[in-house]
Amino acid sequence: MISLRSKTTAGATAALVAVGALALTGGAAAAPDSPGEPRYTAGDPGAGDDYFPYSGNGGYDVQHYDLDITYTPPDPAPAPVEGQLDGIATIDLVATQDLDRFNLDLRGLEVRSLSVNGKPATAIEPPDPDVEVEGAAYWQVQDDDARIWELTVQPRPKIKAGESVRLVIEYGGTTTRPRDIDGFLYGWVTTRDGAMVVSEPEGAMTWYPVNDHQTDKATHSFEITVPEGKVAVANGLPARDPETSNGWTTWYWDAPDLQATYLTTASVGDFDLRETYFSSSGVPIIDAVDTKLTTNALNTTNNSLALQDDMIDLFEALFGDYPFNSYGSIVDNDSVGYALETQTRPVYSGVAREGTVAHELAHQWFGNAVSPERWHSIWLNEGWATYAEWLWNDHQGVESAQEAYNDWYAPDRTPSYWEFQIGDPGPHGLFNGQVYDRGAATLHALRVEVGDDAFFAGARLWLERYNDSAATSEDFQAVYEEVTGEDLDWFFQIWLWDQVKPPATWTL
Ligand SMILES: [Zn+2]
Repeated sequence: MISLRSKTTAGATAALVAVGALALTGGAAAAPDSPGEPRYTAGDPGAGDDYFPYSGNGGYDVQHYDLDITYTPPDPAPAPVEGQLDGIATIDLVATQDLDRFNLDLRGLEVRSLSVNGKPATAIEPPDPDVEVEGAAYWQVQDDDARIWELTVQPRPKIKAGESVRLVIEYGGTTTRPRDIDGFLYGWVTTRDGAMVVSEPEGAMTWYPVNDHQTDKATHSFEITVPEGKVAVANGLPARDPETSNGWTTWYWDAPDLQATYLTTASVGDFDLRETYFSSSGVPIIDAVDTKLTTNALNTTNNSLALQDDMIDLFEALFGDYPFNSYGSIVDNDSVGYALETQTRPVYSGVAREGTVAHELAHQWFGNAVSPERWHSIWLNEGWATYAEWLWNDHQGVESAQEAYNDWYAPDRTPSYWEFQIGDPGPHGLFNGQVYDRGAATLHALRVEVGDDAFFAGARLWLERYNDSAATSEDFQAVYEEVTGEDLDWFFQIWLWDQVKPPATWTL
């Protein structure tokens, strides 16, 4: 993400709120007769990320989401900015424990029917956790105040570890303009002409039933039906040509690369689609540019998007091959106040500026191919993407990366500025400017410390080792210790944890 927001400093960490209906223990587990016998228990209602305790779930690994969505954008003003979304999600997953029941995340939309391996389950009210529910069933908890949105599935027969399961979930409802933990728009953001879909950190659940955490990456395919004349743009490549009948057009997209759920998009609007390709590798580029951009925004956007091909040359030279099957940008005249690096197809608010385009492209390596295993480690996303902007400016002769570092380091700042810990920014500090700026400075200081060869070798090793998965700050440090053969505890202590200005060692 790159923020147009002026964010506040880090706040308190999210409170873990216990809710009776989610206390998924007791009653259901059968004592095993011997080791290796099935022991059916409930999957955890969270992925274990303490910034967002009920984001993601345990007990299974999603392989693929097939999303068949019909979407009606709002009527013209003065009608409310509300849309109608009707979906069928077909979700293929593999159990990682013997499951009595398990959860998905779904916020603000209602499940209308649900089947497990073709067998329908019954909709019920959230049950008393101490009372066993008979038969196959599902229920939803929607607690906006506690930020708990869970869909619980009780399959019958129960699911053994290693078993493949297909869920078919019909769902839908009115779409509005969801807000993240700090009150910023995210998820399926209804716009007057469609929807801007930007889900970091846990907004995918506002538009499909999902295991909404980056530790469970999956492939996605999309059939998005919208009123004729609207364009729906998702991740990856068109699976086939759009089809129109009776005033509705269905757009087909296929995203065969593993993808974190916060990076999924299916934006809808009045877009011009433009196809080109990276001249180095032939990877297709599909840009979607809102037909209603102002002349100024369109000119700026066109100039920036024309540079994507040069940017990829630079980043491939530094970081290795572009990691996915396609690229392109969605530039919407609507604004959520920021841009997001949705996988293979970033979304821009109002205009795509050159620095932002470099930033979101760099995220395809840093954040998308390798994601933060816990949201604590978001500096690995934003520090790298910001440093890539510095590298791009250096390449273009605008300003060297060292000058950018010096410009950040030199000014007198208040002690409170230096207190922010980028290693643990808190859920309210994910998009604090320090995560970006001190994050980039950390990487530049590391480069000065270990030298160019080790620095870029470390970047490539990091990307290679954790490609298609997720890793932590500790994993990152370990990669650089491996490459250099040095203990770097002291370095990362200064940059990620010490709450004072780093020493002038790296100012050249
Ligand atoms: Zn970013």
